[in-house]
Amino acid sequence: MLKNQVAVVTGASRGIGYGIALELASQGANLVVNYNSSAASMEQLVQTIHEQYPEVEVVAVQANVADFEQAKQLIDTAVAKFGRVDILVNNAGITKDGLLMRMSEADFDAVIDVNLKGTFNCMRHAIKPMMKQRSGRIINLSSVSGISGNAGQVNYAASKAGVIGMTKSLAREVATRNITVNAIAPGFIETEMTGQLNDAVQTTIKGQIPMQRFGQVSDIAQTVAFLSSSAANYITGQVITVDGGMTM
Ligand code: NAP
Repeated sequence: MLKNQVAVVTGASRGIGYGIALELASQGANLVVNYNSSAASMEQLVQTIHEQYPEVEVVAVQANVADFEQAKQLIDTAVAKFGRVDILVNNAGITKDGLLMRMSEADFDAVIDVNLKGTFNCMRHAIKPMMKQRSGRIINLSSVSGISGNAGQVNYAASKAGVIGMTKSLAREVATRNITVNAIAPGFIETEMTGQLNDAVQTTIKGQIPMQRFGQVSDIAQTVAFLSSSAANYITGQVITVDGGMTM
């Protein structure tokens, strides 16, 4: 259980982040949930948490995590409201896929800015309160693309490989402060991000997954809950792949 803990979840308005927020709420954590553009969906998340977990306090913050100052406001809100940040989940992410030959500079930069710099920004601001507390959990969403590469995802794979490098480096920096830093590398999870793939592509991908199916948001949310829990006290600097066996 995560009762009385304070979790910040970025990109919680849709998909995996939405599921992570609900899972952490179900375990009793108070939440600061972030969104960028999906205000209506975020309102729905806050309402659902109020209804299902009335004991949980939840605050929604609009912020573009790629912006250093907006990321600061996000973390500052958690500290102002709850006095601490126990868990930071860097989940916000985008794709702008295309073969390198045709990839624009803008599409490369946009993906790096949100996925890699956004993760840096939030960690940079959250690490101070965590150092002061002498405790903390940082969980970064990477991807199997960052481990194995994926045609059409030079920008995305670079950002997600970068997330792994940052995760391991920060894990080494703060290990003595009782702060763990880990990454989760999902395979194909059923969300809007993978819903954009056409049926033929989905069938081909499923053929490459030993379990022959996509994962569910709950598979990732429960891994986040595990890494947030005392069961994971001695785990840091790791990448947990949750992909139905795709990259073994
Ligand atoms: P999704 O359904 O497209 O949702 C993305 C979330 O990120 C939304 O809540 C969105 O908020 C938020 N976001 C995007 N840009 C943002 C920004 N600049 N600032 C703050 N929030 C921002 O994606 P998903 O499938 O749930 O993926 C979640 C994470 O898992 C991502 O990091 C993704 O790379 C990773 N992942 C997913 C899969 C998969 O199969 N789905 C596989 C591997 C890794 P708004 O809508 O409010 O803008």
